[in-house]
Amino acid sequence: MSSDIHQLDYDHAPSFFSRTDDQRLQTNRPIIMASPAKKTKVEEETVVGHVHAVSPVKTSRQNVRYFEATLQTGREEFNRVVCFALEKRSEFIQASDNSQAVRLSRARKSISFGNPGGYDVLLSSASSVGVLDDLDFPRRTPPDVDQLTVAQVLALGPMQRVGTMELRVVQATGNRVVPVRGTPVELKVFEVCDATGQTGLTVWDRVILSVQEGRSYRFTTLTTRKEGDRTVVTTTPSTQVTTCAEVGRPTVLRPASAGGEEVVCGAVVGVKIVAKPRCPRCHAGQENLVARCSTHRCERCGLLQRTMAYIITYSGMVIVLSQKGEERSMALTNSAVFAYVRDNFLSSCGHDGAALEESVMALEEVEVTVSRDGSVVRFGKFAPAGPSVEQDGAKCADAAGGSTTEDEVLDGLDEVLAKEMTD
Ligand SMILES: [Zn+2]
Repeated sequence: MSSDIHQLDYDHAPSFFSRTDDQRLQTNRPIIMASPAKKTKVEEETVVGHVHAVSPVKTSRQNVRYFEATLQTGREEFNRVVCFALEKRSEFIQASDNSQAVRLSRARKSISFGNPGGYDVLLSSASSVGVLDDLDFPRRTPPDVDQLTVAQVLALGPMQRVGTMELRVVQATGNRVVPVRGTPVELKVFEVCDATGQTGLTVWDRVILSVQEGRSYRFTTLTTRKEGDRTVVTTTPSTQVTTCAEVGRPTVLRPASAGGEEVVCGAVVGVKIVAKPRCPRCHAGQENLVARCSTHRCERCGLLQRTMAYIITYSGMVIVLSQKGEERSMALTNSAVFAYVRDNFLSSCGHDGAALEESVMALEEVEVTVSRDGSVVRFGKFAPAGPSVEQDGAKCADAAGGSTTEDEVLDGLDEVLAKEMTD
């Protein structure tokens, strides 16, 4: 696990905890309350339990070093330990390796954002770790403490990190393109559920390509947002998506507001497809990349990289003369063009907008699914018998290839989304 994964909730911990621990760590001075209004006395407590899963040393965004562990404080109770005294890590590892119970003295309990109803145990250099002979409950392997159900997520506030969720994707309810630092980035909103409830999930950029309605997936590193009264989740640049066993549904599944998708069939009047290569490191769009050259130097960060490593992002528009006789102009999204290239085995010219335009013109009759805001969800040849396969897929630099684990999504997506959600 990367150190940023746990940063969100740490950085959003109540200020009196993070401040005092910062101060202790840096100056060894006594605790000074962050705000005079906060008169709550910080109680120092003793907590006993079994130690599991001691993490490597991590560094917070404010440059504070710490490690984490899971403390089993009851037969079925698991709490997160955050320890700022790095010298105690060897004692934790020993206790974990030897299955020895511990007594943590002069610890503090904090509200847990990742574990609603539970608490986190915070340890500083003033705290102490002692070994216990026995506890009145057996040691057992913790469940995936990072995994939350929909019901647990609905109880969280906004901007909280969610380690893992297994979700059934019920229905797409929206599809939009928003500019992020001048680059159009696509987002798609789904209604999702598990056996405990139902919520919304916003999927950003290329993660969209791996999510289909009616299927179940395991999502890592999501964050929460507020949408009216409801807590919803969104993917982050670190999100990974994998398929999982079918997830259940709640007894009552409320119908989501209709997505308002519309299907337009007709003749292609005009098409524009821009295939812009983006640096996989800094995400800058490249103006002068030559596909024939094996390497290319990023025009912003200056790193020389293999040409095939650059990620292609599509945008553009298509104008269709509908069967009703009206001309419809619709914005092409990255995911729609990507799916078109993939499904028609066009990856050999996937970097070449002009060649893709020619191929769309050659379709003559198209079927376009368009969302309420006019962006294209999918399109292809109008053929009731299914998609046509024109040519064999020549192997080439499949720049828009299928992995969802890369971190290539633009930084700052969260900010944009946060703004959108709070507007
Ligand atoms: Zn770059």
